[in-house]
Amino acid sequence: KKASSIKTVNPFNNETVKEFDVMSNEQVDQIIGRADQAFKSWKKTSFEKRAQVLHKVASILRTKKEELGKLATLEMGKLLKESIYEVELCANIFDYYADNGAKFLADHPLDTAHGKAFLAYEPIGVLLSVQPWNFPFYQITRSAAPNIMAGNTMVLKHASNVPQCAQIMEDIFLEAGAPKGVYTNLFIPGRDVERLVADPRIAAVSLTGSEPAGASIASAAGSKVKKSTLELGGSDPFIIMEDADLDDAAKTTVYGRMWNAGQVCVSPKRVILPESKKAEFLDKVKAIFGTLKVGDPLEADTDVAPLSSEKAAEDVAAQVAKAAEQGANVVIGGHRIDRAGAFLEPTLITDITPKMDAYFEEIFGPVYMLHTYKNVDEAIEIANATEFGLGGSVFGKDTDKAVEIARQIDTGMVYINHVTGIAPELPFGGTKNSGYGREQSPAGIYEFVNAKLIRVT
Ligand code: NAP
Repeated sequence: KKASSIKTVNPFNNETVKEFDVMSNEQVDQIIGRADQAFKSWKKTSFEKRAQVLHKVASILRTKKEELGKLATLEMGKLLKESIYEVELCANIFDYYADNGAKFLADHPLDTAHGKAFLAYEPIGVLLSVQPWNFPFYQITRSAAPNIMAGNTMVLKHASNVPQCAQIMEDIFLEAGAPKGVYTNLFIPGRDVERLVADPRIAAVSLTGSEPAGASIASAAGSKVKKSTLELGGSDPFIIMEDADLDDAAKTTVYGRMWNAGQVCVSPKRVILPESKKAEFLDKVKAIFGTLKVGDPLEADTDVAPLSSEKAAEDVAAQVAKAAEQGANVVIGGHRIDRAGAFLEPTLITDITPKMDAYFEEIFGPVYMLHTYKNVDEAIEIANATEFGLGGSVFGKDTDKAVEIARQIDTGMVYINHVTGIAPELPFGGTKNSGYGREQSPAGIYEFVNAKLIRVT
């Protein structure tokens, strides 16, 4: 039998745990048909009923957080404590839309000189959601919670390396009382997704992932006049101001860069520091690097997990090697660790110039890049030098000045005195090549509804 591309491989030891059959075209067709049928009644189901299902999903997630956390750790290697936190966050997002969805989607009156007018927000149909592995539960949740609350139904194409997380979410929806077809998982490879976008029963598509995948899905959607949202890569700048507490800045950036083994779209990938502080700051950062424990993601005191796969570790090691070849200074790490599993040394790179690819690229692993600036204009120039525009941070005591700097950073989100964060009530999304559209917050529920004008004369 041919090996499947959809499988669980534990990145801690690279052992294949379980393989899944790729679904046949007939199976996929049936699933989309069922989602389309389910939409016809789900769109007429009351907000109250929909909210009950979402609250129940949240409560199952909380009850099973240890079991689900272990599954995420097994499939993509993240620290168990981070997996459990992720499951709790998902529960909060489901509750948030269950509690607020009816209010967000209530008829919205408009002032007009001509009679009475209002917007009615109506669901649009089956959403195809394509998601990556780095937050196997959270990525699904931020697309599922608002859309299912709004009355859409969803078919999920999850990343091929997290099939068990993908499947268990469908099981949880059914256990929570969602009618069959409201939320369904598809086991298909990424290359088969484009074809699905053209299916007339698919109303719209939402993708989180890499730029090439996003571009291909968005063009397929565009050619069929279907709406899409894209949440793509990022290379968040983290500007440290002159007045910042350097101990605090060092701690915040190192832990911010190392969690999830650096595989976070909004990780502080480029730390931007006043040049005059370089020696002092580097000493502090190196001291923290010296305490980082790399190892078993199930152990409570591990700081840095393996990457999600052998290929991911190889790719990141190659990016670091290229940076070194091009003249960057790899101060710490940069190599694979001589042990089983997809491990890479926590890495610190300085002296990165615009002649190097590392200046512009996203590095999706535990690689801390330090840039320096002579004046604030230069800091902003470095911050805006990549094609990405996802998140960013400004760190310092003068928060008014920090906000002034934040206004000049070309990203969808800027956090002052914090790494780019996540909260159910705050929007998440980017600009430039990081994509378009927003998830979470009120904004997240308006992406895939028809804001229909009704005017009464
Ligand atoms: P990826 O290869 O683009 O995979 C993401 C998803 O797209 C997977 O389900 C994948 O399926 C599917 N896919 C791959 N090629 C496709 C294609 N041609 N057409 C349709 N679907 C396709 O992404 P990745 O490199 O694994 O994930 C990391 C990237 O995601 C990073 O750039 C990261 O910054 C970004 N990310 C962004 C956000 C955000 O919110 N902006 C959040 C997390 C991650 P298969 O697994 O079957 O290939």
